[in-house]
Amino acid sequence: METENFANWLEIDLGAVQNNVRQLKALTGTTVCAVVKANAYGHGMVEVARAAVKAGAGWCGVARMDEALGLRKAGITAPILLLGYLAPGLAAEAAAENISVPAYDRELAAEYSAKALASGHKLKVHAKIDTGLSRLGVLAAEGVEFVRYLHTLPGLEVEGSFTHYARADAIGSPETTLLQLKRYNQFLEGVTAIGLRPRVVSSANSAATIYYPDARFDLVRPGIAVLGMNPSDEAVLPSGFRQALTWKCRLISVKTVPAGEGISYGHRYKTTKNERIGVIAAGYGDGFRRAVPHFALLRGKRVKVVGGICMDQCMVQLDELPDARIGDEVVLLGKQGEAEITSEELGSSWGTVNYDVITSIEARVQRVYIGS
Ligand SMILES: *Cc1c(COP(=O)(O)O)cnc(C)c1O
Repeated sequence: METENFANWLEIDLGAVQNNVRQLKALTGTTVCAVVKANAYGHGMVEVARAAVKAGAGWCGVARMDEALGLRKAGITAPILLLGYLAPGLAAEAAAENISVPAYDRELAAEYSAKALASGHKLKVHAKIDTGLSRLGVLAAEGVEFVRYLHTLPGLEVEGSFTHYARADAIGSPETTLLQLKRYNQFLEGVTAIGLRPRVVSSANSAATIYYPDARFDLVRPGIAVLGMNPSDEAVLPSGFRQALTWKCRLISVKTVPAGEGISYGHRYKTTKNERIGVIAAGYGDGFRRAVPHFALLRGKRVKVVGGICMDQCMVQLDELPDARIGDEVVLLGKQGEAEITSEELGSSWGTVNYDVITSIEARVQRVYIGS
């Protein structure tokens, strides 16, 4: 797609997504479930899922039923694992569409079973075990009895089981992950002993997939690693992964502002001399948050954002870039020449994590796909 008329857009390299899935498969020798929830962390759910499946991902993971159905509507036939809540009213549709869902509550599971049975399709469930995140899941100590109970429900097929880690990305302090893994293994021994170990056992997000081989089991569930971003500053991806995302916008004005003038709403920045001030088409309405400090890349150099971020624009100091021209491409996240702004850098300067940065890039930012 031609980007020359775009003001603010994401360039998403589907070749990088495919490369990363291949890396994950080679590294783990395990079936990969590409987690594409929340619009593939802002990258575009269907496009990323298609690329991942093409590169050999055996499953797709999503958080919500509308996401799962969106994948089916797009013609994706790979098994789908719903990671979040299934309303009982959608149990028959989930069964008919071959969407595997979590079971973590007896009453809910019984409702799923009844609805599925009435529809004539079995619903595949994955017993969700809470080993220490304290989110969804039955406590590990109650897991075996729970699986036994699920087997009494005639509308369900107990296809799998999964758990999820609280601190797999804290590589320097592995105690929590090791304890969770121990609890999960105890549960698995228990179900194995009564002949009810499910076929598809999974536990690993990206960080655990890479750093805890014992957590891989039958299926790994990476999300951020598929996109080529690090789970945390500590849990970095091995070499060979490639970031798919570059966030770009355009320089849309350049002028000299005299000394002593205020820049942007609130006048929190004042010029101290004649200053070259550019305007770029990026604002908090795009997900470029109002936090400071902010930088952007222009002509391969880092420039400073000055003054408050507006909804659709912000200003940059261009004294070091006399050649900058209206229409120049600006990079907000990613590489330009030798310069780079990482999602981790944005996360830490905005008081959050890279997951939050990329997932909150707004829908109005145009998505452009390359490299597939
Ligand atoms: C989001 C999520 C994942 C993927 O996490 P990453 O850190 O992006 O790899 C895996 N499993 C569950 C249950 C999730 O909610």
